[in-house]
Amino acid sequence: MSLVDYIRAMPKIELHVHLEGTVQPGTLLELADRNNIPLPVSDVSQLQNWYTFRDFDHFIEIYIQICACLKTPDDFTRITYEYGGMMAHQNIRYAEVTWTPASHVNEHLSFQDLLAGINAGRDQAEREWGVRMRWIPDIARNFPDTAGLVVRWLTSPEARAGGVVALGLGGAEIGRPPELFEDAFREARLKGLHSNPHAGETVGPPSVWGAIRALSAERLGHGVRSIEDPALIKYLADYQIPLEVNPTSNLCLRVYPSYAEHPLRWLVEAGVCVTINSDDPALFNTTLADEYVHAVQDCGLTVEQLEQTVLDAIQVSYAPDDEKVEMHHTFCEEFARLRDQHGS
Ligand SMILES: [Zn+2]
Repeated sequence: MSLVDYIRAMPKIELHVHLEGTVQPGTLLELADRNNIPLPVSDVSQLQNWYTFRDFDHFIEIYIQICACLKTPDDFTRITYEYGGMMAHQNIRYAEVTWTPASHVNEHLSFQDLLAGINAGRDQAEREWGVRMRWIPDIARNFPDTAGLVVRWLTSPEARAGGVVALGLGGAEIGRPPELFEDAFREARLKGLHSNPHAGETVGPPSVWGAIRALSAERLGHGVRSIEDPALIKYLADYQIPLEVNPTSNLCLRVYPSYAEHPLRWLVEAGVCVTINSDDPALFNTTLADEYVHAVQDCGLTVEQLEQTVLDAIQVSYAPDDEKVEMHHTFCEEFARLRDQHGS
């Protein structure tokens, strides 16, 4: 068994993935057709090219088009079910998935129907493949006026019963610091949600400090630019505030020029708790399995360091303790079995 085969066979866990960023080209074409949404491309190969990401504006253009094509609860059932299939294919056992409710809820689709559609896909995927998902819906920084409404939706009894575990904060980071969302996050935490904002991706250490101080962030989406501030790195390591690192996303969005210059390995070696994730796998033409391979082959982690990031991800997930213990036990057994087959 080659190193790449070994990594692909490993059991995996994903803590940072956007549901809208998992929609495959063929699915988007069908949904666009059914919902009468014109797309700038008309077949799967053109769409795959279009999905091969060029720059930040192109990323936003595609993201908006995908949201426009998602109309009905059934559309959300389908994309969630299909993501479950991708999980099974890559041996991802558990995922905490972000989606942006304010991008979808309108006079034709209530939050309750959106959640019901997503959960129908989740339940079908779990029945079929045994994969499990929980939700980290987010506030879009671009639409700060929706923050209060999003928190009301997410803290409702049906949201909590339906698998919502944390509040995220996504969208364009520049010019919209975490402090703007302090009230929303305070309210969400008071009502039992975890605090899980993006920070330290396109803005440097001040954004991460803001997420920690103003939002009491328990995990950070990205956080990679913390590497620019040694005091922040020490703080993250001392308090073990985990980072959800997405190497290929950072290359596509020009945060770093290459895997070799990506700080993943330096973060791990500085004692920061790091997890590895795919962010928007369809848009960045990647998968979580690919990210694990890049982490070792291109970013310089050892296989042992990679395995530790996976076990750490279990530990810092928002799964109940009994599920974490069970996952930890199963993953360790499977790592050992795979290592025997790999002959090392
Ligand atoms: Zn993200």
